[in-house]
Amino acid sequence: MSATPNQVLRQAGQRTTEVPLGHGVRIGGSGFVVLAGPCALEGQEQVERTAAAVHHAGAHVLRGGAFKPRTSPYSFQGLGEPGLKLLKDAGHRLRLPVVSEVMDAQQLPVMLDYVDVLQIGARNMQNFSLLRAVAKAGRPVVLKRGFGCTLEEWLLAAEYLLDGGQPNVVLCERGIRSFDNTLRNTLDLAGVAWMKERSHLPVIVDPSHSTGQRSLVTPMALAAAAAGADGLMVEVHPTPEAALCDGPQALTPTLFEGLMQALAPVLAAVGRPLFGQELRRAVGGAR
Ligand code: PEP
Ligand code: MN
Repeated sequence: MSATPNQVLRQAGQRTTEVPLGHGVRIGGSGFVVLAGPCALEGQEQVERTAAAVHHAGAHVLRGGAFKPRTSPYSFQGLGEPGLKLLKDAGHRLRLPVVSEVMDAQQLPVMLDYVDVLQIGARNMQNFSLLRAVAKAGRPVVLKRGFGCTLEEWLLAAEYLLDGGQPNVVLCERGIRSFDNTLRNTLDLAGVAWMKERSHLPVIVDPSHSTGQRSLVTPMALAAAAAGADGLMVEVHPTPEAALCDGPQALTPTLFEGLMQALAPVLAAVGRPLFGQELRRAVGGAR
């Protein structure tokens, strides 16, 4: 048996795998998909306001953490199951699929009651027992790149999921640690372009964690779209100054709307409509 990746690699001429995320949303085809929402689910009003704002601006998937991997044990750890219920209810009302991070295999039974997509966080990319358990859970997975992990290690982590029986995997570049700590992380966009060549899995970019700074989120989102990413995962909060987690990198609803508007010409330039708009165009053309 070879120790190199195999199932995740793109064969000559192979198209990008289209991954269904729920409610008819698919990523990896021609449509560009945007996942957005708060870093952490904090309460009913925050979740509902954020969900309505990102839906209004054109996001396709609602994100939000209920189990938060925090560097300090004294930081807000997330609402747990009540947070997941808020996320599911908001997604259901707006017909948006929802994604949330699973930190531990023991959380899987409760997660499966609420989420369409399971997220594996950067800190758990090489938690191989979690990868194996998530592979058996029967839901699509967003696999974030570990901030200290190479591209090959990221590929092999995805290989665990495919090998374990879950073909629907989306890779998410969220920035890596480098010698330069001026910004929270270093966004490896060349790695995204490389990964698109090397693997048939869809690749998205998280411009929030990869910069840590609100003013840089939209420019890096546009750069990601230009570099060939299949989508984005963006943190949005109605009142970032009051956020319990990652406020400095959260976009306000107004800034998120601006991001979505700024994306349009970049996507047009690379010939990729926003997901859902390719259908609208086809219907319009048939009339
Ligand atoms: C998150 O998406 O909220 C998160 C914790 O991301 P990461 O695992 O990339 O740090
Ligand atoms: Mn966050």
